[in-house]
Amino acid sequence: RSGFVAIVGRPNVGKSTLLNKILGEKIVITSDKPQTTRNRIQGIHNVPGGQIVFIDTPGIHRAKSRLNKFMVEEALSAVQWVDVILYLVDGAADPAKETGMIKEVLSGVEAPVILVLNKIDLFPKSDLLERLLAYGDVYPFKEIIPISAQTGDGVEQVVELVHGLL
Ligand code: GDP
Ligand code: MG
Repeated sequence: RSGFVAIVGRPNVGKSTLLNKILGEKIVITSDKPQTTRNRIQGIHNVPGGQIVFIDTPGIHRAKSRLNKFMVEEALSAVQWVDVILYLVDGAADPAKETGMIKEVLSGVEAPVILVLNKIDLFPKSDLLERLLAYGDVYPFKEIIPISAQTGDGVEQVVELVHGLL
């Protein structure tokens, strides 16, 4: 079970926080082999029998400067060749405002996409179901999973889902 996973989404939704959490904590079984380490710089997550490369991408937004356009292009090209896509959104944001961008970014994409609804520590649980259902209408996501990258809540499930798709 090896492969490439891109973490994409708008700026500040928590992509880098999630990557750090995945790489920085023992959230999947580690083997006693010396190579079973986490390489922060390359985002490589070694597990028994496999290696998952998590790719942190620059935030996708309507860029004006050439540098920003270039960075957005990098994120948009990553979704074309990776094996699994983690599409992160800020759970507190209005799903209706994300619809256009999700459809645009994922148009023509063949890899399975997991929608990760982040920052659930910031809003009441009673708002959750409505948002999960709203995102389900936007795109045929493989899964929609609520997490808090900051507290680590749900992060283990994200890794397990990725494993199941590789
Ligand atoms: P990126 O631009 O998508 O890589 O976002 P970052 O990982 O840099 O996070 C942007 C900000 O959101 C930082 O201040 C994080 O500490 C904060 N953040 C990320 N995840 C969470 C979360 O689950 N809960 C809360 N409350 N804050 C978060
Ligand atoms: Mg980042």
